Amino acid sequence: MGPVGADPGLVPEAGETIVAISTAIGVGAIGIVRLSGPDAVRLAEAVFRPARQTPIGPEEIYSLLYGHIVDPEDGEVVDEALLAIMRKPRSYTREDVVELHCHGGVAAQRAVLRLMIRVGARLAEPGEFTRRAFLNGRIDLAQAESVAAIVAARSTCALRASMRQLGGGLSSRIQAARQRLIGLLAQIEATIDFSDEDVDEVDWGGLAGDLATVQSDLLRLMRTAFLGKALEQGVRTAIVGKPNVGKSSLLNSLLMSERAIVSDIPGTTRDTVEEMMEIGGIPIHLVDTAGLRSTGDHVEMLGVARSEQAMEQADLVLVVIDLSAPWDEADRRLVNGLDPARSIVVGNKTDLVENGQALLGDFGVYMAGEEQENLAGGVRKSARAGDSRNSGCAVSGCAVGEQGRRLCAVSAKTGEGLEELRLLVQQVVTGGDQFHLEEPILVAERQRVLVGEASKRAASALAGVSRQAGEELVCEDIRAAVQALGRITGEELVPDLLDEIFSRFCLGK
Ligand code: GDP
Repeated sequence: MGPVGADPGLVPEAGETIVAISTAIGVGAIGIVRLSGPDAVRLAEAVFRPARQTPIGPEEIYSLLYGHIVDPEDGEVVDEALLAIMRKPRSYTREDVVELHCHGGVAAQRAVLRLMIRVGARLAEPGEFTRRAFLNGRIDLAQAESVAAIVAARSTCALRASMRQLGGGLSSRIQAARQRLIGLLAQIEATIDFSDEDVDEVDWGGLAGDLATVQSDLLRLMRTAFLGKALEQGVRTAIVGKPNVGKSSLLNSLLMSERAIVSDIPGTTRDTVEEMMEIGGIPIHLVDTAGLRSTGDHVEMLGVARSEQAMEQADLVLVVIDLSAPWDEADRRLVNGLDPARSIVVGNKTDLVENGQALLGDFGVYMAGEEQENLAGGVRKSARAGDSRNSGCAVSGCAVGEQGRRLCAVSAKTGEGLEELRLLVQQVVTGGDQFHLEEPILVAERQRVLVGEASKRAASALAGVSRQAGEELVCEDIRAAVQALGRITGEELVPDLLDEIFSRFCLGK
């Protein structure tokens, strides 16, 4: 993986030495003021009086000194501190980096920061240290983005994923796909450029095979987008269902707390209740949709409308039905309105019935009933492979129904089936068995968009090859895919891209 070489045109500010408070603002035991640039050591020496008496020698590549920060104008001691020196190129930015570890708290850090600016450092912009690390070729853009993701990580999984990416996992996958496409491009272009000469014809069959491989690699990466977004923002999970089916109880038992008010009277869950939790290291943002509650005949209508709205906003919907009560058209419409890939049917109150699993299966058949009616309209659903319920799901105690719909029987009251439900949620988010958390994932929206674009263009190139659209068109698609992939790692830069990425960093990073 070749890091990006610094383009002198892109580093106009590299001569300056920048400074920022690199720890979070607030009360803490220590606060770090960091400098990077050619004058970092000299500026630090101007204010730092080491306890050891001897000055800092040029041979000190890495050192840690104890001493005091002193205002050179009046000799006043500003703070007691440790000075860490990391000389280029073996530093975070590949420039000379100095850290002043002073006392925590806003006052001490600000005083030191002001002093450094007074002696000649410039206040760093958000993300400028990481930007320099990128411009000096230490990390690529995908890795820089993972630095931001690590800082923002809200769950253990998110942190692990970002750390792996900082190690270059995603970058090497992207580079491999890009290099392969560049190879294909060269092959085709050679036949165009030297068509009069003795150059072999393009091996279209081989080309199609290679394109298909790249495309499936990219699709695999795209499948991680949902997880990436989930790790970044939390999986927005809505709990929907008719009144009194046990939505609040389910929320509570998942959270093992009493955050929502549970009551026998329908409609006591007045507001939307939202909670954060972690399932298998993935942050889950649970939303109880205040019951699909209404009076009289409006229940169904409202149920459908609410579920649609919930589906729009949620990444995952848990639709709850009461296994101890007869289900009806409202349940059916609710379930039918949801995307099977992003929803789980939870049959609640297994403690009140004889065989919850079987009842849930019956519900699946009930659901299928309406589809049969629909078939009259000529919309034939393919692969209705008999009775698929209670099979095909990796999580025991759960079933896969029509259209791969996931069903799970639980009791919010006794806790039965909740572990299976948790596993099922995890499965939906990670894309099931086809995916391992150890693989690189797309952690930033920008990466998701670009891989999507590259994958689309690779597919289009493949289609072009199979309908013999001609070299030019195929090349154009491949070129666009190469470009999109290059933007992920930063090999292809477009104006303002760096500003856009690094401005989202916090100060001091
Ligand atoms: P919501 O309106 O869908 O939020 O339903 P609630 O969570 O308020 O529950 C309605 C009623 O069903 C309450 O009396 C709960 O105690 C009861 N309930 C909920 N889940 C279960 C369960 O798994 N088993 C039993 N026996 N009762 C439950």
